[in-house]
Amino acid sequence: MSPLPPGSRIGILGGGQLGRMLAMAAAELGFDAHIYTPEADSPAARVAANAVVGSYEDAEGLTRFAAGVDAVTFEFENVPLEALATCAAQAPVRPSARSLEFTQDRLIEKQFVRGLGLETAPFADVSAATDVTAALAALGTPAILKTRRLGYDGKGQVRIGAPGEAAAALSALGGAPAILEGFVSFERELSVLAGRAEDGSFAPFAVTENVHADGILRRSKAPAAVSAEIASEALEAAKRIANGLGHIGVLAVEFFLEADGRLRVNEIAPRVHNSGHWTQDAGAVSQFEQHIRAVAGWPLVPPTPPVKPVVMLNLIGDDATDWRALAAQPTARLHLYGKRAHRPGRKMGHLTLINLQADPS
Ligand code: AMP
Repeated sequence: MSPLPPGSRIGILGGGQLGRMLAMAAAELGFDAHIYTPEADSPAARVAANAVVGSYEDAEGLTRFAAGVDAVTFEFENVPLEALATCAAQAPVRPSARSLEFTQDRLIEKQFVRGLGLETAPFADVSAATDVTAALAALGTPAILKTRRLGYDGKGQVRIGAPGEAAAALSALGGAPAILEGFVSFERELSVLAGRAEDGSFAPFAVTENVHADGILRRSKAPAAVSAEIASEALEAAKRIANGLGHIGVLAVEFFLEADGRLRVNEIAPRVHNSGHWTQDAGAVSQFEQHIRAVAGWPLVPPTPPVKPVVMLNLIGDDATDWRALAAQPTARLHLYGKRAHRPGRKMGHLTLINLQADPS
């Protein structure tokens, strides 16, 4: 595809905060962002040139949307594959359906990662309580039962502490197809955000270190405090994954790092990711701009590592209620997503702490 000139229209499936920040990055490069989302009054729609409210099952609506743009991308991985295929009949879709296909189902994702010669948590495919009991005997407890599809932010997961909890755990997930994962007692969680262009050029950001609570990302720090060997192993794994997918755009690979230096891939997000938000305020290019560049067929910008460590704090639920105090912090940059209502666990914004003298607690 030849590079899209400024003034071109970039379609984004999804209207959340990632779509919003992608739309703003697109606008900065002179593009018009068109949003397609089932949600009325979405955060992304309010900063975009055009927005359509429609369902991902509405083939006619998607066809009309995609026919009105020059390329289509997505902000989340739970877009149905058929919706992407519908769009692809009208406009180039980047990343392609292959990136979604291998990442929206945890079982397929783990098999793909293992097939590349990379490590994951031990896992088993389970669909009946008897499978779970057998898998628990093999993997031990604690273990985590996860739905194969549609999980995010710790949703669709149940921790199993003892073998007798198998049936209850499966019914807590509504009997959905699931995998059982052995518990990894990691020392740290890491992620690699990277851009990959159509010509195969690969541009990784500095390795990021992440802290989750209740399955939700709370805090990211870059660069991660890991050895050069671990950092290059993580970057190499992300490159192998991006190449294996033939990915065009930004992706995120999340890892568990164990005390003995063993690195296991936890999850792949075929899109911009919360743990890469620090790139907006530190370094040569943000993950959002890099993604739009890849989608538009523009050259990627080689990312530069932050000059000093940078910390990103998520603002969740009512964390952003006191926006006056947050806005008054001289070394912080405040990003709010324009969501109308607070709910517990809902991501409302984030704060990037730059030029730090010391790590904030
Ligand atoms: P996920 O949605 O699979 O990324 O899980 C969300 C978070 O739950 C991870 O970032 C970890 O903090 C934790 N977690 C998930 N799977 C495991 C596992 N197999 N062992 C230990 N912790 C896990």
